Amino acid sequence: MPKGPAITVATANPHKLSELEALFGPDWTLLPAPAGMEFPPENGNSYLENALIKARAVSAYSKGWVLGDDSGLEVDALGGLPGIISARFSGPAATSLENCHALLKELKGVENRTARFRAVLVLVEGGSGKLLATSEGVVEGRLTKGLLGEGGFGYDPLFIPEKYQVTFGILPESVKNTISHRARAVAAMLPKLEALLGTAS
Ligand code: IMP
Repeated sequence: MPKGPAITVATANPHKLSELEALFGPDWTLLPAPAGMEFPPENGNSYLENALIKARAVSAYSKGWVLGDDSGLEVDALGGLPGIISARFSGPAATSLENCHALLKELKGVENRTARFRAVLVLVEGGSGKLLATSEGVVEGRLTKGLLGEGGFGYDPLFIPEKYQVTFGILPESVKNTISHRARAVAAMLPKLEALLGTAS
């Protein structure tokens, strides 16, 4: 028996959905966003605003709960960029590979390679779009000077999490899912979901 209402995940990124399914585990039912739905532009000024834009767009079609996620890579040598523009760092329709190459180019000759991934989650009520809960997770690390590994998505082949020697592109998904920004944001969100169920019953 699922613990609570089905949670529709407001993302068009299948990698994110499968990571979130693994992170929520078998107690929760996660559903994809309606097929073919157009997401509005992510023109918020923060991860939180962008996560809400996505979640509220999907909440118009959904009953139950809707989970919005926004995340990005923050590079210290670039003053925190690409941050909220991580998905479109090298252009509006950029591929992950193009973004990785653009980042490597920006960092050519730069010795300080420290960076972090940040993820913000929001839970809204289907239909009304009312904000029910938020959470955040961060993983610190450093960037390589070339692409290493084929796993994951986005900037994974460039990012070595702290305490490890290889990138998220090489580490097994099971390891990424214990230490990633998204794993930490989900771990912070789960008790809030339980608390909401407690107040609802
Ligand atoms: P979003 O879908 O607007 O949240 O885009 C976030 C962007 O940040 C992604 O397209 C990736 O470029 C990057 N990103 C976020 N999380 C990860 C991750 O776990 N691995 C690699 N890149 C990530």
